[in-house]
Amino acid sequence: MAKVHVKTGDQVYVLRGKDKARTGRVLRVLPASNRVVVEGVNVVTKHQKPRSQTQQGGIMTFEAPISAANVMLVCPSCQRPSKVARRINDEGAKVRVCKACNAEISVISKPKRS
Ligand SMILES: [Zn+2]
Repeated sequence: MAKVHVKTGDQVYVLRGKDKARTGRVLRVLPASNRVVVEGVNVVTKHQKPRSQTQQGGIMTFEAPISAANVMLVCPSCQRPSKVARRINDEGAKVRVCKACNAEISVISKPKRS
């Protein structure tokens, strides 16, 4: 299973599709299909029939998953869509690093104690 380069809560820039060149927050990551759900991106409408007393019918809109390959992480430090590198920092923790400005984006795993 391929590792998805973005995580829930990341700001991402959309490269392809009908919402090309938009940015949004990652709501969900689907590693099994290498897809992500991005807030406000790839919104589709669905005509839903009422299934119960509580569930209303009508036209529902929701974000459909898009391929993770079509988004780039927006670096929180330099605000640019960036490639992401994985690196071990000075403390021995595995981190995600912006390839444009070298800022640490987030910690993947804490250092192993020996
Ligand atoms: Zn950066």
